[in-house]
Amino acid sequence: MTVTDELVSYEDALESYDPVMGLEVHVELGTKTKMFCCCSTSLGAEPNSQTCPTCLGLPGSLPVVNATGVESAIKIGLALNCEIAEWCRFARKNYFYPDMPKNFQTSQYDEPIAFNGYLDVALEDGEIFRVEIERAHMEEDTGKSTHIGGATGRIHGASHSLLDYNRAGIPLIEIVTKPIVGAGARAPEVAKAYVTELRELIRALGVSEARMEMGQMRCDVNLSLRPNGTETFGTRSETKNVNSLRSVERAVRFEIQRHAAVLDSGGTVVQETRHFNEDTGSTTSGRIKEEAEDYRYFPEPDLVPIAPERAWVEELRAALPELPRVRRQRLKAEWGISDHEMQSVLNAGAIDPIVATIDAGAPADQARKWWMGELARRANEDDVELSALPITPEQVARVCALVAEGSLNDKLARQVIEGVLAGEGDPDQVVDKRGLAVVSDEGALGAAVDEAIAANPGVADKIRGGKVAAAGALVGAVMKATRGQADAARVRELILEKLGVQG
Ligand code: ADP
Ligand code: MG
Ligand code: ZN
Repeated sequence: MTVTDELVSYEDALESYDPVMGLEVHVELGTKTKMFCCCSTSLGAEPNSQTCPTCLGLPGSLPVVNATGVESAIKIGLALNCEIAEWCRFARKNYFYPDMPKNFQTSQYDEPIAFNGYLDVALEDGEIFRVEIERAHMEEDTGKSTHIGGATGRIHGASHSLLDYNRAGIPLIEIVTKPIVGAGARAPEVAKAYVTELRELIRALGVSEARMEMGQMRCDVNLSLRPNGTETFGTRSETKNVNSLRSVERAVRFEIQRHAAVLDSGGTVVQETRHFNEDTGSTTSGRIKEEAEDYRYFPEPDLVPIAPERAWVEELRAALPELPRVRRQRLKAEWGISDHEMQSVLNAGAIDPIVATIDAGAPADQARKWWMGELARRANEDDVELSALPITPEQVARVCALVAEGSLNDKLARQVIEGVLAGEGDPDQVVDKRGLAVVSDEGALGAAVDEAIAANPGVADKIRGGKVAAAGALVGAVMKATRGQADAARVRELILEKLGVQG
């Protein structure tokens, strides 16, 4: 085994090697109950309050398959252009770990419910890359261990561990790609785009919220390098449980550089699992990888096989929603924006809020402006998703309407939004309470303009003499006097009118 801390630069690595990736994504389904028992799946409950003899693996208990779980798996398979098995079984994957009380995980092995599909993903520049899907199979989540006393929350150095089995038995779908070849230098980007597209798809299907920061979707990144121009795959490493889109991209990039260093130094890559470290952006060695035969898989004897009727499968196929990528193409055209702008909207998680704001009556450009500007900034500051901000699309649409009718300018609108976010009520209530409205009373405005002219005789003379550009200074003075609550365009008109020049 060769250990090296040196990395090869990304560019140099790609001069010599061609990356091959495999992505395994686990998605926790949003079913009300667990996969094989009736325990609740809701989050945040007291530890071990959502357990029963079945998910605790007590002797004599028997599992029953969750029908919604199977339905969700089929929907995912269909949306990924997979074939749906006529008949398939669950299998026991045998291994011991304290967070898995049965000593085996109920999974699927050589008979997955869905197989042989693909997902077309859009890259930053709008190019489409096809990722082939090997399989999507059903399984269950494990419990959660919390290690106490160690420095980093890891088991190393801990004095004891706590176990919570509330998560044990929550349905998971594991989606495995075929080896992804041909991405070359864009491998990190392809990996990120794939996981992003998959997340959008899962959400569109309504089978899970797929919130990566909450562990509802996590990705194992397999990577190997082969010398450019050769066919045979190299030995892969498997970086486990990468839990953000950005980390997926970084993990691929790091592993390319690390593998290249090992290979360049004449060493051999070890087939092992690795951990991704968010702080350093690097991976560290985990355990040497088991082979499938180590798990002693065998068909689950306590569960009947799954044989989804073709009519049902076709019904589910017919009811699939518009695919996210197709929907984005449509919206991009409707909103008149570029691939790049659409990509930013997608990255910001702003598509649904913007669509809802437009549905509530706002023009597309205004809806996009607020969600991608002020609101994106706030979400970023508070480190929450846009959809989690305490403002509704209807409220944003109302702000747009107030701007359109001239009651608010952009600066005041921002204050209204701030008020809504601060819990001061609907936009109209904030306008009332804070006294925010454009001064449109011509008398008051005229007086403010007269004052500004009187206070700046030099500037006024310049304007009279034809230097219309100087009007900006007077507009500024009026805006200041009205605390920003005047319509700047109207102020400018009034100034020119009063000084007897043409705009
Ligand atoms: P395991 O259970 O060992 O993780 P899987 O077959 O479930 O194995 O997943 C392995 C993933 O890695 C798949 O996405 C597969 O396409 C991919 N893969 C297989 N061999 C290689 C390789 N040499 N380099 C990169 N990826 C690979
Ligand atoms: Mg794996
Ligand atoms: Zn249970």
